[in-house]
Amino acid sequence: MALGEFDLIARYFTRPVRRAALGVGDDCALLRIEPGMQLATSADLLVEGRHFLSTVAPDRLGHKALAVNLSDLAACGARPLAFTLSLALPQAEAAWLEGFSRGLLALAEAHGCELVGGDTTRGPLAINVSIFGEVPAGQALLRSGARPGDDIYVSGRLGDARLALEVFRGAVSLPGEAFDRVRLAMECPQPRVALGLALRGVAHSAIDLSDGLLGDLGHVLQRSGCGAHLDVDAVPRSDDLAAQPLALQRLCTLAGGDDYELLFTAPAAKREAVAQAARAAGVPVTRIGQVEPEPGLRLVDASGQALSNIWTSFDHFLDHS
Ligand code: ADP
Ligand code: MG
Repeated sequence: MALGEFDLIARYFTRPVRRAALGVGDDCALLRIEPGMQLATSADLLVEGRHFLSTVAPDRLGHKALAVNLSDLAACGARPLAFTLSLALPQAEAAWLEGFSRGLLALAEAHGCELVGGDTTRGPLAINVSIFGEVPAGQALLRSGARPGDDIYVSGRLGDARLALEVFRGAVSLPGEAFDRVRLAMECPQPRVALGLALRGVAHSAIDLSDGLLGDLGHVLQRSGCGAHLDVDAVPRSDDLAAQPLALQRLCTLAGGDDYELLFTAPAAKREAVAQAARAAGVPVTRIGQVEPEPGLRLVDASGQALSNIWTSFDHFLDHS
């Protein structure tokens, strides 16, 4: 049976809303905003071949399309409210739509974030999610808040998504079970929403890691007008990545991309509060460096030896790989 545009929207993307005042079906959705709150909004566009491989299972793609947006809210310390989904699809294929919507809506449900609208058209596969969250006025975590003396932390472990990409590219080979684990990291990132909320009033600055640690830390430092030193060997990594040659470990942890962990800074006086936030969120955090007044990023290894920065982070218009 051929599936038309409106059947498709009704069947796969229309769910009752509880928190929103109006969801799918009219010209606009309506969101309730409590007094004293600011609306945090962000959008991400995922294009086949650029942000995901055609080999990804549809449920994982649905998960990831929302996860990367939830990660942006997490970085701001915002609580998810609702999102819209705009899809360009080569064809309306029931099996694909069923898997994609299942992965997407399961993550949405887990975060109490409602699908309230979108747009659907035929075209080369591309997925846009625009997300809306709320944060008490003045309490959002920003890139610009880092101060000299702050500790620099990351959540979780970095580099597995890049390791998986290197396997797909044929540059690295891994045993099957290890490949399944790193592939899961690449295809199903877990947005650190609870950690972002717990870091309100604790962290001075935050960003989510999408383009690689060094580049994303560079954004924080630039917006904050400071520099930093970073202990490259302190960056947490999985056992799978730690089993690889050191040069590959460093590439993946420092310039990997697609980590969707939080990088944040907090004053040394808040170390106990940071540990408490990490426990409350159920996510490990690791201290990897310190913000300094002098501009620039100084890399040191475990023995304190200075390293030159040979890694570049991903840029859609400069990188052709
Ligand atoms: P319009 O003509 O105003 O663009 P559409 O006819 O495209 O509206 O969409 C009808 C309704 O379905 C709208 O409420 C829109 O937000 C919603 N919608 C369209 N595509 C999607 C989608 N992929 N996911 C969720 N809602 C969607
Ligand atoms: Mg439309």
